[in-house]
Amino acid sequence: MEKALGKSSLLSLEECLRLILDGEAGAGELGLRTLIQANPQDLNAWGHLAYLLFSQKRYREAAECYRTCHRISPALIDAVLYEVDCMEKLGNRHQAFQLLRGIQPIPSGYEIPVRDRLSRIEPWGHYLASRLRKRSKLISQRLREWGFIRGLLREIGLLPFSFRAIRDSGMRGFLRYLSRGFLEESVYRYPVPPCDLCGSSFFRGVFFIDSRKIIRCCRCGLERVERVPPGGQDIASGFYEREEVIADMVADWQDPIIIRHRMGWLEILFDVAGLRLQSEKSRIFEFGCGSGEFLAHLREQGFEVAGMDGSARLVERAQQVFHLPVDKCCLADLPKPKEACDVALAFHILEHLDSPSLLFKHARKILKQDGCLFIEIPVPDLCRLPVELKTHGSHGYGSSEHVHFLTLPLLERYFLSHGFQVIARYEYLAGDLPAGGMLGRLCPE
Ligand SMILES: [Zn+2]
Repeated sequence: MEKALGKSSLLSLEECLRLILDGEAGAGELGLRTLIQANPQDLNAWGHLAYLLFSQKRYREAAECYRTCHRISPALIDAVLYEVDCMEKLGNRHQAFQLLRGIQPIPSGYEIPVRDRLSRIEPWGHYLASRLRKRSKLISQRLREWGFIRGLLREIGLLPFSFRAIRDSGMRGFLRYLSRGFLEESVYRYPVPPCDLCGSSFFRGVFFIDSRKIIRCCRCGLERVERVPPGGQDIASGFYEREEVIADMVADWQDPIIIRHRMGWLEILFDVAGLRLQSEKSRIFEFGCGSGEFLAHLREQGFEVAGMDGSARLVERAQQVFHLPVDKCCLADLPKPKEACDVALAFHILEHLDSPSLLFKHARKILKQDGCLFIEIPVPDLCRLPVELKTHGSHGYGSSEHVHFLTLPLLERYFLSHGFQVIARYEYLAGDLPAGGMLGRLCPE
């Protein structure tokens, strides 16, 4: 250190950075300050000094350096953004917000970093006022609808039961729900059905995300999106009819790893239960069979297969590519097959349904007397997880197509309440969150 201090006046920028990388941050900092003293317009030296101070949590000093960088080069928007980060770290959200508002117009390529920061620091009073101004016409239009007023009054009346949801998703999350859900998408049109598992009508709010409010049944703990279009979110939006969605999903479904994974768990669960999954004369039915990749694999193994899916395009693909006997229909319209099945499957279907119990009822109808039902779903207990996992895009509340959020114990309750004996179960980590499944056998009536 002494050696470095002694020759600090001679150090180049590269030598200063080398010292910092070698763990001699003090000597590196001194070197950078000497460079700045020699040339106060040295943008690189200011930038590196700012970054060093930020990494040492010296946010006030770092903010001053970033401010100087911006003064030297007014086009350097990154310097303003990092100064905003410093102010946020210092708890000075007001100043951080003022700095962000000063970035006008927002240069191309900076929309997302500015919006991300804005969503964290914009005071909710300001958020509310600006949205009210922007949507004043829509609000006056909605205020003429009785359904909107009734829905809004209900939402206000339920505030004591939404405390946890507002705490976890923030006041801004709640206001965004009112704005997107009520003003734009008119979710108040859809009824709030009783709990699909236990029939209770007592819920409390657990999260607000975009236009959706997630509620939890006070009796059994099942979580669901409070209001969804009849038939479920993805059917109403035509999600699985969209070309880019289908291309993406088919790539997943035809992946041999996915097929092996599904086949593997199916065989293991039958083994654990002491049953044999025999291909000769065994008939398997798949709920939500998609474009038929797994059914085609089962047929290759010698099983007789059949299936259904709600998406016309996926069913068309299953029929054209694999010549599978699958029907395009909703669960509610599923016809009783001519021949009863030995096994019914549903991979990641239950969470999409506005009434999961319908699947169990239909499984009972299509299965033989001692037939088996195999179900896999995401099973994280979202209520207990931190916010960044709650909002997870594929297995959390962030998935716009999921209506119900289950755990393994809740899935077991579904099996039991529909006359199935649970004979084996499994759980594994799918990325950040757990998924799992269960094999149930129909009990004799
Ligand atoms: Zn319930």
